[in-house]
Amino acid sequence: TADTALAELLNSRIRDVPDYPKPGVLFKDIAPLLADAEAFGALTRALADRAKELGATKVVGLEARGFVLAAPAAVAAGLGFVPIRKQGKLPGEVFRRSYELEYGSATLEVQRDAFAPGERVLVVDDVLATGGTIGASLDLVKEAGAELVGVVVLMELGFLDGRERLAGHLDGAPLETL
Ligand code: AMP
Repeated sequence: TADTALAELLNSRIRDVPDYPKPGVLFKDIAPLLADAEAFGALTRALADRAKELGATKVVGLEARGFVLAAPAAVAAGLGFVPIRKQGKLPGEVFRRSYELEYGSATLEVQRDAFAPGERVLVVDDVLATGGTIGASLDLVKEAGAELVGVVVLMELGFLDGRERLAGHLDGAPLETL
């Protein structure tokens, strides 16, 4: 199917880097995919198609690799882009969520006026690992008054059970892996 062909193309352009950034982690490096016009173009079109099919009015990207995937998809779909950023990067009033990491915690922010009333949001990131990042982001989208229509990630590390962690944050919206 077209989905299988896309998955094979994308998979062939992702590089596994053992023990980065620390021992025991298999890092999924998307640099070869981004450098390949065919693969990056196919990924961008797939994300844009889902944004349109789900009736999104904004595409949200998560700092930093989520920006690189979500912004061109938003343009290709004829939609605007909204960033969710790490703490202290966005000017003005923000909503803020902290979540636990393996060691310590992380904090994400979105601008309070990021969405107009009734906006429908597709959230995009590169990797779903434990689900902490996307979970906090979904809470921010809702706190900022938008409706979540879907989450699309490039890869899902299934053994970390991120999908289970996100179940209570999705409000019935689909979580898809390309
Ligand atoms: P998590 O909050 O645990 O779901 O982690 C997701 C975030 O960490 C994503 O934004 C990814 O960019 C990054 N990440 C986690 N694990 C990996 C990995 N094995 N390879 C590349 N990026 C990862």
